[in-house]
Amino acid sequence: MIQLKKRLGQHFLHDKNIINKILKHVKPEKNQHFLEIGPGNGILSKPLYNKIKSLILIEKDKKLIPILDQVFYNQKNINIYNKDILKYNFENISKKIRIIGNLPYNISTEILFKILNISEKIIDVHFMLQKEVVDRIIAKPNSKIYGRLSVMCQVYFNIEKLFEISPNVFYPKPKVQSAYIKMIPYQTRFHNNKHEKMFYDIVKTTFESRRKMIKSTLKDKMDLKILEKLNINPNQRPEKISVDDFLNISKAL
Ligand code: SAH
Repeated sequence: MIQLKKRLGQHFLHDKNIINKILKHVKPEKNQHFLEIGPGNGILSKPLYNKIKSLILIEKDKKLIPILDQVFYNQKNINIYNKDILKYNFENISKKIRIIGNLPYNISTEILFKILNISEKIIDVHFMLQKEVVDRIIAKPNSKIYGRLSVMCQVYFNIEKLFEISPNVFYPKPKVQSAYIKMIPYQTRFHNNKHEKMFYDIVKTTFESRRKMIKSTLKDKMDLKILEKLNINPNQRPEKISVDDFLNISKAL
């Protein structure tokens, strides 16, 4: 048994029921290409691989690589990379992929932000995450947990929370509850690159001071009359601004 690393967020699934439940939701098909983030010892990867066309595994822990090599010994259409997903270059991928992963929770928001940038290459995403992060991802305006993560994920993806998972199905047990989500990219909601950049910028700036009214965080960036024209009250805090309103503000600029 290998020593598991807390630093790498290693909580491995060991319950066949949960693997089956995940696969039932993912519905992998024969002609599809998948990429798995953090495959660990391959407990999900192997049954997934048996149902699909090709699989890319990105695992940071080099000690797990020989185990994965053995699981997939002599198999075709499998690529195992000993890499940090945050440094992985998705440019190399030419086909549309489905992404799956029981994520290392300590870097899950960074992984989500990385995925946003390549949403046009993705068919869909299935992630196991800390429940609290899932709640933030799907939060709606007027809630304390609605923030930059919610807006950025929701502008790129249609997101569905599928089910919650108890710590008992992992080894070692995490201290937190988990949840499983499905994310399907929208056709882009931006008119052009400038619009997209402006959206990033506005969302970042306003939520960096989430206690301040948007008129004070945005005054250097725009003529506040634009907000009135868009029917957006400039005295609101960003947690009241919907994704559509952020899209409208950035478009007007
Ligand atoms: N999928 C496995 C393991 C999940 S635990 C299972 O469900 O049992 C999270 C996995 O992500 C671990 O294998 C860990 O080594 C790996 N990991 C952690 N940080 C990573 C990173 N930056 N890039 C790729 N993999 C990473």
